[in-house]
Amino acid sequence: MKVFYSDRFVLPLPEGHRFPMLKYSSLRERVAASSVCGPGELREPEAVTDEQILRAHNPDYLGRVVSGTLTDKEMRRIGFPWSEAMVERSRRASGGTVGACLAALEEGFAANLAGGTHHAFADRGEGYCVFNDSAIAARAVQAAGLVGRVAVIDTDVHQGNGTAAILADDPTVFTFSIHGEKNFPFHKEKSDLDVPLPDGADDAAFLEALAAGLKRALEASEPDLAIYLAGADPFVGDRLGRLSVTKEGLAERDRIVLEGCRERGVPVAVAMAGGYSEDVGDIVDVHFGSVSRAAALTQPQRERGLTHG
Ligand SMILES: [Zn+2]
Repeated sequence: MKVFYSDRFVLPLPEGHRFPMLKYSSLRERVAASSVCGPGELREPEAVTDEQILRAHNPDYLGRVVSGTLTDKEMRRIGFPWSEAMVERSRRASGGTVGACLAALEEGFAANLAGGTHHAFADRGEGYCVFNDSAIAARAVQAAGLVGRVAVIDTDVHQGNGTAAILADDPTVFTFSIHGEKNFPFHKEKSDLDVPLPDGADDAAFLEALAAGLKRALEASEPDLAIYLAGADPFVGDRLGRLSVTKEGLAERDRIVLEGCRERGVPVAVAMAGGYSEDVGDIVDVHFGSVSRAAALTQPQRERGLTHG
């Protein structure tokens, strides 16, 4: 399965910053050491272009991100210090989701070991999100004429507020978010389908709500492509999650989403989204589970006999 990584584009953080940047390279190493990717399938993505970004973001916001002229308040809301490397990394992380969408359309499944930056709005970033990769990627594949309808299946514990807002008036992209009701963001936007969960929701509650929500989302949207945000932060050990979902529960989540889409013939691009467990190994375990489950369902072109050599 094709997998895109952008951890070589490091975002410099001050000492003691709480964002677990190490998770990206650790996950890429774990994927590289596995049989998920065949030769040449673990790839660095292209950076998204201004034209691609502007299908989801305002020119003023893009201009000020690129030139480093966002206000201190705007940067605090994002949570990272500005640097040219931050801009490049944000472009590559979104590029990974574009790449995963294109690959998924050819082979059924693909993954981005970054992205899921669902708190980015058209005119602002927040919560460690600068550009909204789901909105950018959905519109990139639509603009290329490859798909009509797209569904964003957001299972990160935080609501996909930026995605919901950017795509609110777009009937061609269905936004589904299952998230902690009391968790950040405290002002929720309106997705096409929101499934809020109470603090402490366990495997049974999470999975029952997910299965019902997924069914509704896929039936309502009949998508040609799904972008699946497989956040690691519903995990019981997550510092920011406030739910009680186990690793086994998250593996079942992956199965429900990925097999549910495959049963309906919907290709899936997996994006990473959040994960803040104290032990980075726990974050990597959850994401690797999502990626390897998708890989197990992928039928590469070489097995279908469509390529030579
Ligand atoms: Zn999150």
